[in-house]
Amino acid sequence: MYTLNQRVRQWSDHIAPLMDNFHHLVVAIVKIRHDSRFLHHCIGKVRRFLLVHFRQDYVQQQLTVRAGSCRQCGTCCNLLFTCPMLTKGGRCSAYGICRPGACKVFPIDERDIAEVELCGHHCGYNFDTKSSD
Ligand code: SF4
Ligand code: SF4
Repeated sequence: MYTLNQRVRQWSDHIAPLMDNFHHLVVAIVKIRHDSRFLHHCIGKVRRFLLVHFRQDYVQQQLTVRAGSCRQCGTCCNLLFTCPMLTKGGRCSAYGICRPGACKVFPIDERDIAEVELCGHHCGYNFDTKSSD
């Protein structure tokens, strides 16, 4: 007959390797998240979609502290994949018709600027973080 202490020890002996594996998995995911451009752009697209649809207050606040202007470089139309609405001449064929909300407010914050830089380009916008504190 096992005592409670013995059962707990047995249980923790079983769970310890699982915790180790879980730790390795988390470390691997964090490393991939840090290194992978693909993941960065996936997360960026989802983040912008969610912000535009569910955090309009944050988006509007960010627009008030955004400085600079669009250089029309088209990098934000080529994050993760080339947008099918982009013409050969580098124009947006959805402009003024059905351009997605996330496009209208890009870049929303420094993370979007960083995404452009990840592609080796510089967005014409910037955020004055000192004045937004
Ligand atoms: S990355 Fe910035 S500068 Fe380039 S097109 Fe997009 S908003 Fe304009
Ligand atoms: S819809 Fe227009 S602005 Fe938005 S990514 Fe496509 S081409 Fe660029």
